[in-house]
Amino acid sequence: MPERLDAFVARAAAAYYARGGAFGRAGDFTTAPEMTQVFGECLGLWAAVTWQAMGAPPRVVLAELGPGRGTLMADALRAAREAMPGFAAAAEVHLVETSPALRASQRARVPEAVWHARVEGVPDGPLILLANEFLDALPVRQIVRRGGLWRERFVEDGRFVELPTDLDPGAAPEDEVREIGEAREAVAALLARRVAARVGAALLLDYGPAETAPGDTLQAVRAHAPADPLAEPGSADLTAHVDFAALARAARAEGAAVFGPLPQGLFLARLGLHARSAALARAVPGRAATLMSAAHRLTAPEGMGRLFKALCLCHPALPAPPGFEDWFED
Ligand code: SAH
Repeated sequence: MPERLDAFVARAAAAYYARGGAFGRAGDFTTAPEMTQVFGECLGLWAAVTWQAMGAPPRVVLAELGPGRGTLMADALRAAREAMPGFAAAAEVHLVETSPALRASQRARVPEAVWHARVEGVPDGPLILLANEFLDALPVRQIVRRGGLWRERFVEDGRFVELPTDLDPGAAPEDEVREIGEAREAVAALLARRVAARVGAALLLDYGPAETAPGDTLQAVRAHAPADPLAEPGSADLTAHVDFAALARAARAEGAAVFGPLPQGLFLARLGLHARSAALARAVPGRAATLMSAAHRLTAPEGMGRLFKALCLCHPALPAPPGFEDWFED
């Protein structure tokens, strides 16, 4: 039976993350928090300053979507405790994770957290939310233009089959592929409703273009090398570019203010990634080379500095969050 691409990706992702141990140099791929502790520390300070701008509520939900090994949140909390103890005391940590194996890793690093299987489970109230490389793991649908009509991609026996579809975004060149991230836009809309209803900010970091672009971006990575996305579901990390323009549209429709997308390199440089990395390198010379090369890779345009983006969904009355100060909404 042909399986629609988004269902295939959801099934493959669930199987893949259930195994748990895919992160880091020994695994399939490396994410920013696994490269340097300074990444999570910068986001912790971002969260602390954002909490102040919210009027320093005595209780705030500090949530993360898809926390992986829990490294980002552990680094963020450590930096926040040091720089702004009032924020650390007000923060109630909530993690959204489906994989039991990854929940166990997260519990080892952030024992005080409360876990949820779905974003909807995060409690109401003042909210600061972080998500790094979460949305790229959520499924996409793909449609392709054939003979002047749209067909939708399904997967059968490890290859694509094209079937009739209910989606019709209008005319396009023959053979053009479009990706539709309904699950991603639904998360953006839900977060936008949450931050607009109470007070809050959601910071989404991921990879993809600032403007909606056609093309098939589905990719599988196994042991740091490209793999066939349709073969052996669950054996490789399966992701696709995040359409930031689509997320921004979905969030604005729910009444949130939207800042960005900014290139990750610019955003992290503004949060002080380089200065903090250099200070830590001076204090711990044995780790200097690793710290400086991670900072470079995260910010360099040819590394993760340009393709990765930062997008922030905010309550409309909040000032521009750290890093987005020169952003004007059009
Ligand atoms: N943020 C981490 C991990 C990124 S990998 C880092 O930067 O290192 C994606 C994460 O999202 C994993 O923790 C995975 O288990 C989780 N995840 C993927 N799909 C999910 C879903 N539908 N619901 C909840 N968590 C999900």
